[in-house]
This record gives sequence, structure tokens and C-alpha cells, in this order.
Amino acid sequence: MGARVAGGERTSSGRGGGQTDQPRNGANLGGMTSPETAPGAHDFIREIVRQDLADGTYTRVQTRFPPEPNGYLHIGHAKAIFQDFGVARDFGGICKLRLDDTNPESEDVEYVDAIVEDIAWLGFEPAAVIHASDYFGQLYEWAEYLVEQGLAYVDEQSAEAISQQKGGYGAPGVESPYRDRPAEESLDLLRRMRAGEFPDGAMALRAKIDMQSDHMWLRDPVMYRIRHAHHHNTGDEWVIYPTYDWAHGQSDAIEGVTHSMCTLEFDAHRPLYDWFLAHLPLPFETPKQIEFARLEFTHTVTSKRRLKKLVDDGVVDGWSDARMPTLRGMRRRGYPASAIQEFLAEIGNSRTNARHAFEAFEAVVRRQLNETAQRRMAVLDPVKLTLTNWPVGSDGAPVVEHFEVVNNPENPDDGVRSVPFTGSLYIEREDFAEVPPPKFFRLSPGREVRLRGAYFVTATDVVKDEDGNVIEVLATYDPETRGGNAPDGRRVKSTMHWVSADHAVDATAHLYDRLFSAEVPGARTGEPLDDLNPDSLQVRHAKAEPALADVAPGEVVQFERLGYFAADPDEPMLFHRTVGLRDEWAAIQRAQAAGKK
Ligand code: ATP
Ligand code: MG
Repeated sequence: MGARVAGGERTSSGRGGGQTDQPRNGANLGGMTSPETAPGAHDFIREIVRQDLADGTYTRVQTRFPPEPNGYLHIGHAKAIFQDFGVARDFGGICKLRLDDTNPESEDVEYVDAIVEDIAWLGFEPAAVIHASDYFGQLYEWAEYLVEQGLAYVDEQSAEAISQQKGGYGAPGVESPYRDRPAEESLDLLRRMRAGEFPDGAMALRAKIDMQSDHMWLRDPVMYRIRHAHHHNTGDEWVIYPTYDWAHGQSDAIEGVTHSMCTLEFDAHRPLYDWFLAHLPLPFETPKQIEFARLEFTHTVTSKRRLKKLVDDGVVDGWSDARMPTLRGMRRRGYPASAIQEFLAEIGNSRTNARHAFEAFEAVVRRQLNETAQRRMAVLDPVKLTLTNWPVGSDGAPVVEHFEVVNNPENPDDGVRSVPFTGSLYIEREDFAEVPPPKFFRLSPGREVRLRGAYFVTATDVVKDEDGNVIEVLATYDPETRGGNAPDGRRVKSTMHWVSADHAVDATAHLYDRLFSAEVPGARTGEPLDDLNPDSLQVRHAKAEPALADVAPGEVVQFERLGYFAADPDEPMLFHRTVGLRDEWAAIQRAQAAGKK
């Protein structure tokens, strides 16, 4: 994979890419305790906030996180959450969760609890959970106020006519024939719109600003449209609904938001955001809109509409499928919330949209899990290994030995566990070759290898089924090599993991590949779903050491030599491979560096 991605976008590195300011300390994962020590503490938004407090523009900080309740949160939202909640926390302010439910048709209460839960996973708790629809009454009063001021009018033209008259960049707008109607007439019509006298689309309320403005959003934008639709929060109380622009800044103002952060696509709306606020009798200071770059990754999509289609089409097993870039999918997959936080701190914040290499995020995940995950042995594709010289005890049964194994070499506090060993074992099928290809140093007839922490073994023979497949490998072990070292100092070229067949527990392992094979899904055809990877899930029936049964739901362990695996939160003995052990990101960076020379 190269440095550049198609579609004219830039893949930036995990460290420093798309960043406008100095790199920061990604090691501080414990919590954002003060502006000085917080990850992301020096981004341009915090700089603005710091300045605003210093010069008295605001005396307090209040933010909001405003998702539309029409789907589950995804990794892109995590960036907004860390901005909105993080800035409030860093400056001793508050952040509320505001469900942006101005669109009656597409919203559902089903999502609200999930949104709160996902925010909690990232470490935040909203100061309150509110709805934009809570403000419909105040918004309406303010709409009448603007009409009375001669700053809004009812337009009886169709939506198509209104949009045609809008013009474009360099093309003048055309004023509506209803633009200069008397305020009383507009007021009367607005009240009757609200009372439900007119059908959908018969007329709309528009702000009276400037049809020649260079800012398209100032060309008499629509404030209310008629929509005879049931709303999940307000029921049938309203048949007119505010547009995003008429609702958002006003909701900010009603709540007392100071800094209203959003993604770059709202940059063009800012003049309108400011215009409405400048013409209304606000209860608090005027809020300020600040835009930042969207977070995008290679090999995935962050659009609720597209993610919903994956769910509806059965491509994935629901919103929390471990391949989904939803926060619940990522949680199931075993990505630590702290890795998301560390990654966001690494890339910093800026006003430049960039698509980040997913491998760069995985490198952070791997680094964190290396420190926190206990090690276990599991064999994903088992083949029997029988030690023909393994002793039988005085009771006639094969001897069982126990090896003390360190749970996590990175963390002595994790202690040791006892792993049973017998002459009847499972090893990985791919760790044996009857006829070894060149450079194959693992087990083959006549070759000696180390079974990790146990003994040296030498393969002697194989047992095959009638189709000629190897179903059992026969070997001898050297009792002198107990613990995995030969007293005579002789060496082996390979160390393999193993599981005692008599003690093994069964586990199911899900191995994942990218959900989308293209770096930029949809770059070729415009339709991301055309780039779906049909082989993004492989299921393995594994044999594992007994201690795997003790792994708590949701906990991540390292399967030695195979990667990090997260225990499913619901289904016992189901493990999702979070990430492999190989640092693909380092390889990509080396390739990029080589390409630049
Ligand atoms: P979608 O297209 O997935 O529906 P949206 O932008 O409509 O996304 P909302 O639920 O309306 O999503 O967004 C809630 C907040 O999250 C907004 O402030 C929005 O700017 C922010 N947000 C959404 N997607 C991203 C992203 N990819 N990166 C950063 N912030 C995002
Ligand atoms: Mg939206």
C-alpha cells in the first residue's frame, strides 16, 4: 500500500500528519486533568478557547455534541466527542449531548441509549441529554420575531423554484415575488402554516437577507418547511419543522453554548449561523462556531447511511459487528478506547481533511495491547502432535507436567499461570511440513524445534487419512531440554506454540480482513459498496490452553504468535482478532521512505 490514496486525498501518517501544531505527548492516557497535560491540549481550537477566556469574550466554556439520532456512532464521531467533551473538561466547563432531531422522519429513540453508552465508553458523561426539538417553541417565537422585524417572510413558491432562484457562485440570485410582502401578511401565513392549514410544500418561511450575497447560505435561506409528520419527541404537535440552519445556532444560544464545534462542511454555513444570532434577543453570550477536519480512515466508511445499508443488506452482523467502524463494533473488536484517544492526540486537529491509514491506528492499538494483554496459547488450525517416548506413570496413565508461564512479559504484576503439558498435543497445521519448502524452519521429519517453554521435539513420522492428508505428527522429545533449553547449548531455529490435547478447551476465533478492499471505498465507481471485501471474515475452530476459559467478556489477550484477540462480550469462548502482531504500519512507512528517495 502506498502513501497516497486515490481520489485526490492525502493519507497522512499517524504521527504528525495533517497537524498544524506541535506533536504532543501520546503517553498521557490517564485522563485529561488539565489543559497543560491533556492530549490535544495544544490544538488550534483550544488555542481559540484559551484566547477567548483570556480576553474576556467568554467567562465560561460550554459545548455540545449534536448527533442526529438516526444511527449508531462511528469512529468519526469519536473525534467530535473528544473535541466537544474534551474541551469542556479541559477548561472546567460542561458539555451536553444534544440530539439533533429536527428531521421528523429519519429519527428513532432506539439510538439514544446507545449513543449515551458509546460516549461513556470513551470516558465522558454528558452534563444533560437534551433534544433540539425541546426548543421548537422558542424557535417558533423567534421566527415570529424575525417576521415582525421584517427579516423573514413566507414564500409561496415551490421548493424547486426557490432553489432555482438561488443562483450560484458568480450567478446572481433572483428575489422571490413574495419577498416584500407586508410583515402582517407573513405573520398570518406563518401562524396558519403552524396551525396545519396548508399541505406539505405549499409554502416556506425564509430569512430575508441578501439574494446577491457571495455567501450562498445568506441568499434568503429557508427556516421552516411544512411537514405533516409524526415526531418521536414532539408527537403530532408540530407540522412545520425548522431547517438545520434555523435550529442549530439558536439551540446553541438557548442552551448557553459558548464554542460550537463542527466539521468543515459547515464552514460555508457560518455566515448564516452568525447572522441569525446577530438578529435575535439572545439570553446568553453569542456562541461561536468553529470548524475542524473530519476524521476518515482508509478501507472503511464513516457515513451512517452507508453503514446502515451494510446492516440492512446483511453484509455484517448488525451495527456492533466487529468489522464495523461503529464505536460498538470497535469495542467488540477489542480496540481500547484509550487507543482511539491516543491516536487522536497523535494526529492532532486541524482544518485540513485527511484520510488516515488504518494501519497507523492499529499500530497504536498494538502498542497498547502489548503492554496490557495477557498471553495465552491457542491453536487455530490444529493438527495432533504425539510424543512417542512420553512416559507413562506408575498408575499406567501418561504423565502430566505443568509449566509455569509468565502471563505478560511486559507486566510482572500479571503473574504466572500453570499450563499442562502431555505427550498428546495440538500444534498449528502450518507449523509442520512433510516436505519442507526452502526457508521453512519449523517442524518437519528429522527436524528439531522448541515447543515454547516446554521441550525440544523432533518429528519422526506422520499418520495420514485415506486422502493422504496428515492427521497426526509423531515425534520424540528430549527430556534433557525441560523448560525449552538444551543443557549442551544446541540450538533450534524455531519455537512453536502448543496445547495439551487432553486439557484443551474449544474456542471459536474470528479472523478479520478489511471490510473494504480499496483504500478509498468508492473511489473507482462512486459507490463504496462496490469495494466490499467478500472475505472479511474467517471462522476458525481453535483448541486452546485451559486458562483461556477464564478470560473475562470483553477482555483482550494475546494468542502467542497469532495476534490480539478480544473475548466476545456476549458469547462465551468466541474471540475476535483485534489486530495481528506484525507492525504493518512500520512496513508501510519504510516503503514510503524508500519511495521518496
Ligand atoms: P453521518 O454522515 O454519518 O450521518 P453526520 O455528520 O450527519 O454523519 P451527525 O450525527 O449529524 O453525523 O454528527 C454529529 C457530530 O459529529 C457533528 O458535530 C459532526 O460534525 C460530527 N462528525 C460526524 N462525522 C464525523 C467525522 N467523520 N469526523 C469528525 N466529526 C464527525
Ligand atoms: Mg447529519
